Amino acid sequence: MREAGRLVAEARLIVKELMRPGVTTRQIDLAVEQFIRSKGCTPSFKGYRGFPASTCICVNEEMVHGIPGARVLAEGDIVSVDIGVNYRGYHGDSVWTYGVGKIAPDRQRLLEISEKAMLAGVAMAQVGNTTGDIGAAMERVAMNAGYVVSKEFGGHGVGRSLHEEPSVPNFGEPGKGVTLRTGMTIAIEPIVVMEDAAAVTLKDKWTVVSKYDYLSAQFEHTVAITKDGPQILTTL
Ligand code: MG
Ligand code: MG
Repeated sequence: MREAGRLVAEARLIVKELMRPGVTTRQIDLAVEQFIRSKGCTPSFKGYRGFPASTCICVNEEMVHGIPGARVLAEGDIVSVDIGVNYRGYHGDSVWTYGVGKIAPDRQRLLEISEKAMLAGVAMAQVGNTTGDIGAAMERVAMNAGYVVSKEFGGHGVGRSLHEEPSVPNFGEPGKGVTLRTGMTIAIEPIVVMEDAAAVTLKDKWTVVSKYDYLSAQFEHTVAITKDGPQILTTL
C-alpha cells in the first residue's frame, strides 16, 4: 500500500503541471492513466462498478465522482482530481483540489480550509480513537470557517479493495463510531462545501453536483493507523 500510495502522489505532481487554462479534463485523465500503466499498475477506478475513466475530476460546482471529458479548464476554476492506483492488488486513494491559474480569494480560502479539515481528520487517526473522532475534527474545522461538510459522502477503509469497512464519515461525535486499531488503513476525504451540501447526481449516473451551484473542495489521503500514530501513505 505504501508503494501504491507513492505512485498516487507521483501522479498528483503530473496533474499539478497540467492544471492550466485550455486543458480538458480528459487530457488530465489520460495523462494519469498513462503514468499508472507505465509503472505496471492499473487505475483503481477504471471499470469500478462501471466507472468509465481512470480518475474522477470535478470542476467548480461539481462535487464528487465527476467523469473526465471535453470540459475545458478556464482561469479561476477549482478542480478536484481523485486518483486510485492498484499496485499488486493493493490500493492507494487520494484526491486533491487545484486552482487553475489565478483564483479568487474566497476560492483560495475554501481550498485551504478543506485541506486543513482533512489533515485534522488524519491527526485523529490514532489507535484507540474512533471514526467519530475523525469526523468531528473535520466538521469542526469546516464549521469554524463558515462552511459545511457533505454528510452524504465520506471516507472508507481501503486495502485489497478500494472500498472496505469501516466507513469514515465527514462528521461525527467524539468517541462514537468504529474504534481504530493498529494496522487499519483508511481513506480520509472530507468534501467541504461553501454553504449547503445538498447534491444531485447527473444523468451520466456518476457526476454529483451541488444542488444550488455552491463550490466545494475535497482533499483525501490514504492513512495507516500505527502504534506510532497516523502514517500518510499517499505521499512521496
Ligand atoms: Mg479517492
Ligand atoms: Mg476514497
